[in-house]
Amino acid sequence: MDVEQFRKAGYAAIDRICDYYTTLQSQPVSSSVQPGYLAPLLPTQPPTQGEDFSIIAADYDKYIMPGLTHWQHPSFFAYFPTAASFEGILGDLYATAAPHPGFNWSCSPASTELEAIVMDWAAKLLGLAPAFHNACGTGGGALQTTASDSALVAAVAARERFVSTHSESDAQTPLNSLVIYVTTQTHSLGLKAARVLGLQVRALEVTTEDRYALRGETLRAALEEDLAVGRKPFILMATVGTTSSGAVDNLPEIQAVLADYPEIWLHIDAAWAGIALCCPETRDELYLDAINAAADSFCTNFHKWGLVNFDASTLWVRDRLTLTRALDITPPFLRTAHGDSGAVIDYRNWHLALGRRFRSLKLWFVLRGFGVQGFQAHVRAGIKLNNTFNALLANSEVLQLITPPSLALTVFRAAPKSTPNGRAGAEAEIEKEKDGNELTHLNALNASFFARLARRPDLAITQTVLNGVFCVRFAIGAARTTEAHVRAAFEVIEEEARAVVKEDLE
Ligand code: PLP
Repeated sequence: MDVEQFRKAGYAAIDRICDYYTTLQSQPVSSSVQPGYLAPLLPTQPPTQGEDFSIIAADYDKYIMPGLTHWQHPSFFAYFPTAASFEGILGDLYATAAPHPGFNWSCSPASTELEAIVMDWAAKLLGLAPAFHNACGTGGGALQTTASDSALVAAVAARERFVSTHSESDAQTPLNSLVIYVTTQTHSLGLKAARVLGLQVRALEVTTEDRYALRGETLRAALEEDLAVGRKPFILMATVGTTSSGAVDNLPEIQAVLADYPEIWLHIDAAWAGIALCCPETRDELYLDAINAAADSFCTNFHKWGLVNFDASTLWVRDRLTLTRALDITPPFLRTAHGDSGAVIDYRNWHLALGRRFRSLKLWFVLRGFGVQGFQAHVRAGIKLNNTFNALLANSEVLQLITPPSLALTVFRAAPKSTPNGRAGAEAEIEKEKDGNELTHLNALNASFFARLARRPDLAITQTVLNGVFCVRFAIGAARTTEAHVRAAFEVIEEEARAVVKEDLE
């Protein structure tokens, strides 16, 4: 393709993208293809001769589009959102138009310098303390691929700090005594980090009464137990906004316990909920003060609720030296005069790989395009829509809230009229059910309920299990969701719940 052919194909691509977004709402949310659908449709070999791009673009429509799940669809309520924006698309387009692997400042100074600046913008947007800002010189932030990578990076830094602190006093710190602490509600990133690093992991229990949040006393008891037998917890991965229920671990209590164990690194995984810190009114419930006072690292994903197209996970650390000591491997061919002088950031030492994408560009475009107020308006709109959903749910005779709604996430289940409705009722009832057959029965009923919802083309929604209770998650946050979409989704959900409850009574 020459530059004029690219110009033509590029204009056509933008037209195509615009048409995609204007017609998205009328498409089914999820793909209906069956596993293996693609292989019979495509040749088994690449073409011998290059093909005209118009043919390739037409094949994209024909073969790829039917296999896409539309995460940007306004009726996408599954998992957590991946709220994208046109500013984000343009950021990726510009970034890929001048590709470079950005590992050292000198690879493309603008890429490193913009990243340091927009990470500080983002930190200020979320209310993170100056100790986490790049400008302070001791802490700082870098863009990572995902929250899983961010957690792994944090664990590597934490291990480095722990081992180097203990190497003089305790020559016996064998790596196999190190333990990563998570809770039973932590995202799989905790188990994955442990597996990758070959370390032990302990999942602390959380209870229904505590709304699935880690409490200080549970942490203290586990620490005392492990330390007594020579195990060495070195990092706690606490969550602000768990995947299953949006629970927020009790950070003030955790802070108080960890004050007695300063060698333990506190990583906060706020992959989804951290974005809501842009709104000052959420900061108390998300324990921002404790984050600022006690966290060693903090991660949130702008590619979830934060309008930046996947991928853009932001990770801040309080002590950048610990991080770079853990990850800095500098063979001669990577040395530069600027790097040696210490006057620049070489971001290769802040993440797992060497090369890195120019992700800061899309974050910059989004933060400028929306402004703080526009960004806050997007988050507030999601929370407001979730309140609407909850108001509808509170009046339903066949749906029951499992735990109080968290920001823009609601977790509920189908429950026959005899099961008490409402928050307090649900939690007490769930505890009672655990003693008898009722839970098994309701879980089976809800598995059928979810199976019905999963077959619906007009919305996407996901399931979870909370301490043995099968439930359904409804997560709002796609950029184009309006009240009409939420109301329509509620009607579908209630209709399926009625059907399944009726079937159950027959
Ligand atoms: N942490 C939480 C709380 C999540 O909900 C998720 C994904 O939904 C993740 C981490 C994983 O995010 P990533 O795909 O960026 O690793």
